[in-house]
Amino acid sequence: NGPSPHVSKNGPVLIIGSTGFIGRFVTESCLDSGRPTYLLVRSGVTSCHFKSTVLKSFEEKGAIIVHGSMDEGDLMEKVLRENKIEIVISAVGGKNILDQLKLVEVIKVIGTIKRFLPSEFGHDIDRADPVEPGLTMYAEKRKVRRAIEKAGIPYTYICCNSIAAWPYHDNTHPADVLPPLDRFHIYGDGSVKAYFVAGADIGKFTIKSMDDVRTVNKSVHFRPPNNLLNINELASLWEQKIGRTLPRVTITENDLLDVAREMRIPESIVASFTHDIFINGCQINFSIEEPEDIDVSSLYPDARFQTIDECFNDFLVKLVENPKVLKQASGNNNNNGIIMPAPKQEA
Ligand code: NDP
Repeated sequence: NGPSPHVSKNGPVLIIGSTGFIGRFVTESCLDSGRPTYLLVRSGVTSCHFKSTVLKSFEEKGAIIVHGSMDEGDLMEKVLRENKIEIVISAVGGKNILDQLKLVEVIKVIGTIKRFLPSEFGHDIDRADPVEPGLTMYAEKRKVRRAIEKAGIPYTYICCNSIAAWPYHDNTHPADVLPPLDRFHIYGDGSVKAYFVAGADIGKFTIKSMDDVRTVNKSVHFRPPNNLLNINELASLWEQKIGRTLPRVTITENDLLDVAREMRIPESIVASFTHDIFINGCQINFSIEEPEDIDVSSLYPDARFQTIDECFNDFLVKLVENPKVLKQASGNNNNNGIIMPAPKQEA
């Protein structure tokens, strides 16, 4: 018998983690939707040029910045009450998942928050079963889910699957990196499929779902049928874009498990998820079960997802037209050993 889940059309939203990788997409979409958008920002952010620039652009679009950390209970209570926040979206990163427990307590005490979207933005963590160290992150996310459910807070869990990009097994934010230009790492036999969703669509469909009465207390699954590909198909698509074939190197199940066992954070966490996706098939080995699950495509049949083909076109444009990206990609070994071809002619 928690608070009513009905959100007013202009109810203010608080986003936590707006300077992060996923949080940026969600914030963009929230601002585009025209809702009053508050951003909780920690004090250290201003020392980072990139994050300050991101925040400035959000402010120019109307975002209201409030300073603080989500684990400061009194401050959070003040922020939520004074600004009459109706929806809270958290996109904190893997290191800070448990900071959300304090916020759950505060939301429970206040009793006026109509919807809470905790930091999920990946797999269905109650179903997926990665090896360590990914499992520890899932155990933390599960703990947050159980706290929300116990507190009777109306929630929506966003299970958006993989971001549309080449799924590097050692990179937390693969969409920041171009797909390979020297060789492909193919996981296992490369036949296990996964869903690849553009970052902008993760933001767009999160914001569509956040106040939809049909998504209250549900896991919303992003499964655009056109974006279901295995890694061999993904490699062929990129080869078509760059106009040449690249060698394919097999990364076996044991190779991935070895990287996971090294316990290098975050690389080993990403390796454990890569194993879960491309060996175990964790995105496709279950069906969506009403009433607790819902497929976002069934909610908004007319809304279109960007295809992976379009996303790869965007990477190609970055590759060909942006001298900065070209230089960055060819100038050091931090980009997964990318060796630059003469892209213009070949593309
Ligand atoms: P990032 O590490 O990029 O960003 C985290 C954000 O949270 C930053 O803005 C950070 O602020 C903020 N933050 C962290 N702790 C606090 C706190 N206590 N109070 C206020 N703000 C805080 O996170 P990601 O985008 O990588 O991850 C977000 C979620 O998305 C995670 O659940 C992750 O598992 C998932 N994810 C999914 C991917 C996919 O492909 N589906 C890919 C990557 C992530 P500050 O700037 O101060 O550090």
